Amino acid sequence: MARYSGAVCRQCRRESAKLFLKGDRCYTDKCAIERRNYAPGQHGQRRTKVTEYGLQLREKQKVKRTYGLQEKQFRLYFAKADRMKGVTGENLLVLLERRLDSIAYRLGFSVSRSQARTLVRHGHFHVNGSKVNIPSYLVRPGDVVELREKSREIVTFNEALDSVMRRGVPSWVELDREKFKGTIKALPVRDELTTPEFQEQLIVELYSK
Ligand code: SF4
Repeated sequence: MARYSGAVCRQCRRESAKLFLKGDRCYTDKCAIERRNYAPGQHGQRRTKVTEYGLQLREKQKVKRTYGLQEKQFRLYFAKADRMKGVTGENLLVLLERRLDSIAYRLGFSVSRSQARTLVRHGHFHVNGSKVNIPSYLVRPGDVVELREKSREIVTFNEALDSVMRRGVPSWVELDREKFKGTIKALPVRDELTTPEFQEQLIVELYSK
């Protein structure tokens, strides 16, 4: 299936949650969830009974949409998380956070994950000194993600870095704003992954059927 290219706020409204897909607008009262927190479409305001399956499905869609993944990719991440030691749901979220596009977003080099994906694809980033243009590249603790020198004057990056102060840089990464560089101090633990809020156990239940 092709990647979704419609209005992203509809996705938040469908999930009844802020997924932070649109950059700065998500932190203002123009956010569609603040204004119209009901499902999109003609029947969006109808009351419907949500089944257990429905809850699990919505939670899976929420995570998938937050990280901009397609079903097949998401299944592969789940299978990988399931093979790893530890709690599958937590492994899944950590794997998704380790993607280079997600790290670029967390460090503040972009205003959204979808923008980060494009910027990674366009070859603006180096990891440990080498160019990496694969958004799904998984970083490890100790890795250094850096904006290539030629890109440092680009307004998009400087605006994004200025606005990262609004959402904050997570404690498990370190940003050196002057050098356009970030370091992965450690992999995140579950308590550090709070935005958006997920109930990953529901996804595990869904895929374990
Ligand atoms: Fe739109 Fe962002 Fe609000 Fe989601 S959180 S509805 S993407 S403005």
